[in-house]
Amino acid sequence: MTIRTSVTGFPRIGENRELKKALEGYWTGSIQDQDLEQTGAQVRAGDLTFQKESRIDLISVNDFSFYDNMLDSALMLGAIPPRFSDFSHERDRYFAMARGSTAVRALEMTKWFNTNYHYLVPELSRSTLFSPHPETVLARYREASSLGIRFPKINLMGPLSFLRLSRDMDNRDPLDHLDRLIPVYVRILEEISQLDDVVHVQLDEPILVRDPDKPLLQVLPGVYDTLAQAGDNIRIIVATYFEHALEALPILAETGIWGMGLDLVHGPENLEAVSLLRGKKLLAGVVDGKNIWSADIDQALGILGKISRHLPKEDIIVSSSCSLVHVPYTVDNELPGPVTDRFSFAREKVREIALISSMFHNQPLTLEQEHLLVKSRRCLITRVDPEDSDPGCSGSRPFSERTSREHCFAQRIAVQKKELDLPLLPTTTIGSFPQTSEIRALRRDFKKGQISLSRYEAGIMEYIDQCVAFQEEAGLDVLVHGEPERNDMVEYFGEMLEGFYITANGWVQSYGSRCVKPPVIHGRVSRPGPMTVKWITHAQSRTSRPVKGMLTGPVTILNWSFVRNDRPAREVARQIALALQEEIRDLQTAGIRIIQVDEAAFKEGYPLRKADIPEYEEWAVENFKLAVSAADIKTQIHTHMCYSEFGDIIKTIQAMDADVITVEMSRSNNDLLQVFKETGYDKEIGPGVYDIHSPRVPSMEELSGQIRAILEVLPAEQVWINPDCGLKTRRWEEVRPALVNMVAAARMLRSG
Ligand code: GLN
Ligand code: ZN
Repeated sequence: MTIRTSVTGFPRIGENRELKKALEGYWTGSIQDQDLEQTGAQVRAGDLTFQKESRIDLISVNDFSFYDNMLDSALMLGAIPPRFSDFSHERDRYFAMARGSTAVRALEMTKWFNTNYHYLVPELSRSTLFSPHPETVLARYREASSLGIRFPKINLMGPLSFLRLSRDMDNRDPLDHLDRLIPVYVRILEEISQLDDVVHVQLDEPILVRDPDKPLLQVLPGVYDTLAQAGDNIRIIVATYFEHALEALPILAETGIWGMGLDLVHGPENLEAVSLLRGKKLLAGVVDGKNIWSADIDQALGILGKISRHLPKEDIIVSSSCSLVHVPYTVDNELPGPVTDRFSFAREKVREIALISSMFHNQPLTLEQEHLLVKSRRCLITRVDPEDSDPGCSGSRPFSERTSREHCFAQRIAVQKKELDLPLLPTTTIGSFPQTSEIRALRRDFKKGQISLSRYEAGIMEYIDQCVAFQEEAGLDVLVHGEPERNDMVEYFGEMLEGFYITANGWVQSYGSRCVKPPVIHGRVSRPGPMTVKWITHAQSRTSRPVKGMLTGPVTILNWSFVRNDRPAREVARQIALALQEEIRDLQTAGIRIIQVDEAAFKEGYPLRKADIPEYEEWAVENFKLAVSAADIKTQIHTHMCYSEFGDIIKTIQAMDADVITVEMSRSNNDLLQVFKETGYDKEIGPGVYDIHSPRVPSMEELSGQIRAILEVLPAEQVWINPDCGLKTRRWEEVRPALVNMVAAARMLRSG
């Protein structure tokens, strides 16, 4: 049988988030180990069977995970940090590594390349003793075989990505572990080779799409020749995705691997080098695994046509560009309509792969495939939006094209200081206050149409009143309304703006059991009317202290949405910026003197390759500035970012020209703050003084210690006092005393 189609990986949380629910049930003790196991098996069986019925030849096994594949890899390789060695129950150990327990701290979690997926960072040290534990992998293969899957493809994390993405606790190069790690991979592959006449093994090496890493490229041929020799019947596929792999490709082409996966959507440069893969299989990633638009079938066929000038057709396997774990399950769970008609989620993408392959290989189409082809072609036509030809105009009102504020920072801050008349070391928060169950219920009931608009608004206003009253009482200097109307800082704006679509069930795994539902930007973005003015002005009417208006910035809205792919990202960001500009103007007219534009996801959007960074920085900064350019000299613009490492982006942050930036700093030592000083950063800064991720209430002494440490680095005139991030995940019982202590600490230091 010729192999013609492959899927890099499939979502695993379950069509109706069954796995999420089972996991959370297991953690709270409401279901048992075997129930969790059973849910996992059901989800896997459904997904495998679906792919089989959709005519996928190489179907992934071991893309499933109860939490994260990197964690699974660490366990498969025996890389268990010593603090987790004492668990008698495997599953307890597993979840302790993932989430921590009362006794041990979890592994660190971080973002998976430029996606919104988070993986657990394996910890290695001199004492790490790698050992092979392929039992789960073998079981998953047998499970797939028993479901009638002819070619289960075993997905494993490749050794080079595993090491590069791990942390070495002795601060050595994680690559130093390679010599001890490879024999363990070989042992695992030997076990795998016993499974069948031929076995396909996909080794994920996304690290190879990053900027060239010399030591890694040096060991690459040796590693893959060794692995390819682990069994005569093993066919090794090296999967790369999210970018081109032009440095690694020629090297891998000379090794004994069977095939290579290339992303031809996000790394079209790969096309230049496909001829080098002669004699190997190419898993041609022509269906976008990261975005949700229906595929352009003819364009994909065009790419495959080009490849077939260099490689024999039978060596070209049609594939997704990356794992489909980054998109929701199926469009079947959405309301039918002109927008959702253009969507393609994981199941639809699988069908597109099969269709493209049938057409490429001149096989007869099924009736269903013919329908899909007609529909896909029609989608492309309906996507042409006539309004798009008018790129600048946003609504009927004029807007400013100016991307800089009229006055320089020195002029602005002098006027603002006079206007706002704040004390030294002003205190504030990042925006949200606890999202209580009452507030959640209020929003839910309103959404379901169970309560009237006036009752809903009255409820929200009441909560705002409570927030304002508390902040006055606690003695904060700059107040917020508390964000009770927001379910999520991006979704809220997505709901208010034209050009966005909010899916009903478009859930995507973010980490573990956590799923997010990114809004979809499908058309030209514009603002039909004010989005936040009502809430902010209400809060302001309750106090004489300044209330900060609270908006999400253009770059963050873009980075946390599924973005249309028929327009450049910078243009979409610009449309969002113009909508925000109108909002800022309205807030200002309504008497709001401070406006915060959150850019929590600014850093996340950075391209994987250095060469592409300047362009991103250019349009990201430009659109942030375009949004806030509506602010006049008296209006103070704040921004907030949820991290502390600014070393490589400090110049860019400076260029954003916000009057005040609040950042996350309490968990890192103040060395990281140095960079603001060293680079001559001249704007005001609020380095978070306590960690909002923990329920612990910091004492006054602790907080004043933290502030003193900050003041050793920065002059008091430049410093604001605030928590690390928004308080929405905390409880009032924690927030109240923490903020009271924070204000007391600031006051103490103010008076010297
Ligand atoms: N203003 C938002 C809040 O306080 C910011 C959240 C964030 O930075 N992720 O919730
Ligand atoms: Zn934050």
